[in-house]
Amino acid sequence: MRQVVMTKPGEIAVEDRADPKIIEATDAIIRLSATCICGSDLWPYRGVQEVHHQVMGHEYVGVVEEVGPEVKTVKVGDFVVGSFWASDNTCDICQAGYQSHCVHRTIMGSIGTQSELARIPLADGTLVATPGQPAADLIPSLLAASDVLGTGWFAAVAAQAGPGKTVAVVGDGAVGLLGILAAKQLGAERIVAFSRHADRQKLAREFGATDIIEERGDEGVAKVKDLTGGLGAHSVIEAVGTQEAMMQAIHSARPGGHVGFVGVSHDVNIPGELLFGTGIHLHGGPAPVRQYLPELIKLIWNRKIDPGKVFDLTLPLDQAAEGYEAMDERRAIKVLLTV
Ligand SMILES: [Zn+2]
Repeated sequence: MRQVVMTKPGEIAVEDRADPKIIEATDAIIRLSATCICGSDLWPYRGVQEVHHQVMGHEYVGVVEEVGPEVKTVKVGDFVVGSFWASDNTCDICQAGYQSHCVHRTIMGSIGTQSELARIPLADGTLVATPGQPAADLIPSLLAASDVLGTGWFAAVAAQAGPGKTVAVVGDGAVGLLGILAAKQLGAERIVAFSRHADRQKLAREFGATDIIEERGDEGVAKVKDLTGGLGAHSVIEAVGTQEAMMQAIHSARPGGHVGFVGVSHDVNIPGELLFGTGIHLHGGPAPVRQYLPELIKLIWNRKIDPGKVFDLTLPLDQAAEGYEAMDERRAIKVLLTV
């Protein structure tokens, strides 16, 4: 099969590799219908995170080709969506809704899903079958559910977005944009997007943003305060992972407010005095996407939401290198790879 490999920072190859096989009795093999490049794939691409000839990709949708003898809930031929963490969905942590911290978890990035086929561990716990074979135009949205939609959703839930709330969103990548969509679905009254890119502002508004702030840092925070009677937002989504973004998020929240942080942290340090002094709630980390998949699939299946709009560039798997380049240069929000 063909699979995307990052040979070193900034270098992407598509290699011929052996087809995956069932290893554990709880595994399934899926044939991908589509895959994609994640903003988090840019950390190693830019050399911020170490990388040596590593398989890439952790988002996936596809059709089950083979199941291990212990797999019961999905069968050959099912169209399935799974999270970027494989999880048993039965341990105490999973049952509490934190499947991304499952005691038996496997990060799908270690297996790589920018490929034609993929082995999915703990198939019963990880995969959710759709009601039938999806129409072709639903596939991008179902793929978005695998990570960016589920992550944006978790961020909005962690930030306690809901009726009567003003939600501010730091980060206008796919996760931030889908955090806007999630906040809207959860009933937020006002949604403020930080963005200085016209195309992303447009999508933010389509997903439910009511206000756009182009300023960053302290200037951006001052604008949020202006919009909220000097108090700050009730709920803030942090979808970047840098120190600057985290500080902007914390300072944008009102005392007692909630910050949901889902940008993969890189050298973020929160001063204790700041945390003590602001009186805010902080919750985040890798999103337990599996928890939300049944609900998200239903919303997509019934065409209530269209998160697939975040894919603004589609390329064949063989041109993955071009996709990475486009996302790195911010020419594309998110790249879908056809297989
Ligand atoms: Zn578990």
